[in-house]
Amino acid sequence: MDSERIGLCSTCQHARIVKHPRGGKDYFRCGKHDEDPAYPKYPPLPVRVCEAYTQTQE
Ligand code: SF4
Repeated sequence: MDSERIGLCSTCQHARIVKHPRGGKDYFRCGKHDEDPAYPKYPPLPVRVCEAYTQTQE
């Protein structure tokens, strides 16, 4: 993912890539929203601060 454009979400375990249904550009959503609706499904990008940020494991 494009870390400059997306910010923290580019390295967060909660980030989900959604395949565009008609072959367009793939897009991003926040999987944390599924368990806590307080987190927006499509947060304004780039995300610079997020309490739920969990870094992906290498
Ligand atoms: S929890 Fe925060 S940093 Fe992680 S994907 Fe959602 S908005 Fe981005």
